Amino acid sequence: MEGMMSVVIPAYNEQDNVAALAERVRSALDGAQIPFELIFVDDGSADKTWEKISEEAKKDSRIRGLRFSRNFGKESAIFAGLRAAKGECCTVMDADLQHPPETLVRMYSLWKDKGFHVVEAKKRSRGTEKWTYRLFANMFYGLLKAMSGQDLRNGSDFRLLDRKVVNELNKMPERQTFFRAMSGWLGFETAVVEFDVAERHAGKTKFSPRRLIKYALSSIASFTAVPMQFVTGVGIAFFVFAIVLGLQTLIRKLTGHSAEGFTTVILLLLLIGSILMISLGIIGYYIARIYEEIKARPRYVLADEIGGQEDGHEAVENS
Ligand code: UDP
Ligand code: MG
Repeated sequence: MEGMMSVVIPAYNEQDNVAALAERVRSALDGAQIPFELIFVDDGSADKTWEKISEEAKKDSRIRGLRFSRNFGKESAIFAGLRAAKGECCTVMDADLQHPPETLVRMYSLWKDKGFHVVEAKKRSRGTEKWTYRLFANMFYGLLKAMSGQDLRNGSDFRLLDRKVVNELNKMPERQTFFRAMSGWLGFETAVVEFDVAERHAGKTKFSPRRLIKYALSSIASFTAVPMQFVTGVGIAFFVFAIVLGLQTLIRKLTGHSAEGFTTVILLLLLIGSILMISLGIIGYYIARIYEEIKARPRYVLADEIGGQEDGHEAVENS
């Protein structure tokens, strides 16, 4: 359909948000006369999310649903939705109404009227996030910027992509994805809109601090190999240190004042031991990720789908 927007919504245990979100998106987009389809991706929810999606899909033929066989994570859900999308542009938004559907209208007009291929929605305010979360987020983005040069601060997965960009994303073969950075990596003319993060409509966040840390580490590793250069850097620093200390020790020995006591030995052993272990850990982490990639398992497994029957199943192909 001419100028159709596909809205991809990853949903994990969002039973009380599905209907409300569908309603808000519908009224925002219908109001602006934007043709659209809504693709809910149920990321292996344990609650009634799938039932709710099915209800919506039966009521409105523009609503479709994909269901994973288990929880594969938000990243997988986003990529599943993008692959199934048929629109000329695709947007990705959260299911909990923290991303206001009205913003879609502004994003759409930047794409349609101004010809931008990517429209990124940035958080103007971070809502009512806890200060610990904010501190952590700032540390993460600072680290990422220092290492990869990409500034993702205040970014989110809320964005609009032109069909061209979506096709390129669909071609990217990696198993461990980082949606934000991957779409940034692709380039294309990008516009930015700002939005205010709303309160979660219902339910609670799916990202525990533990999961966030895992996500942050995995994102860094999937985007830059700089931590491995850290290993080389420390190695060089220690080499310089070794020459200085070695010379000093030798000179003292030759002049009859050999180094005394085990204190130096113990300290050096401890220091070198821990640095070696950390370095091994960093290298091991990258090797584990190579192993994951090389297994080439699918990013997700579909258990069910609903809606959009009139033109068959060709768009939903597992990857
Ligand atoms: N989500 C998902 N799979 C997961 C975790 C989260 O699809 O394993 C979805 C979730 O349903 C929501 C979006 O990702 O639509 C953002 O999650 P959440 O609101 O919990 O994160 P926060 O806004 O707190 O960062
Ligand atoms: Mg949220």
